[in-house]
Amino acid sequence: MEALGTDTKHGRCCVCMVKNKICTRKCEFSAYFPNEMQDDYEAATKLFGTQNIIRMMKLAAHEQKHLLASSILKEGAAWTDDNIGGGYGVIQKLRWEIELHEASLSKIRMKISEEKKQLVLLSNQTGDNIKGGYGVIQKLMWEIKLHEVYLSEIRKKKKTISSTFK
Ligand SMILES: [Zn+2]
Repeated sequence: MEALGTDTKHGRCCVCMVKNKICTRKCEFSAYFPNEMQDDYEAATKLFGTQNIIRMMKLAAHEQKHLLASSILKEGAAWTDDNIGGGYGVIQKLRWEIELHEASLSKIRMKISEEKKQLVLLSNQTGDNIKGGYGVIQKLMWEIKLHEVYLSEIRKKKKTISSTFK
């Protein structure tokens, strides 16, 4: 049987690495942002900011944390794959990103109102699956939160970049 080794064997988690902290066995982030996700995590911090990521993770219910973390990392990976350097190109890209995320947001909001209608229907019937339904809505709520944080970070970025081109 494998002995329970120390976490240093796997290196620090991404959050502790960024904050230059010792990552202990009890670290609340090590399960969600392990060492090997470093590239995606660093890209994600450029999008959301470390403080926002930590705040969102702390706000998330325990059973939602994995989903939230993987969404954050996915956004980071997408940003890296697709990043372009230099002035106006960046602004154009940010404009598209804003539009895309606004479109996703309105789609998610529509989905939520549909899910809510379904829930009302369900609760008028047996009462089965209602918990599952709320789970779906919770998930969509997190998606909205992520998109909103993303949008505000992009808007900030766009403002900063635009002001350097005056
Ligand atoms: Zn850690």
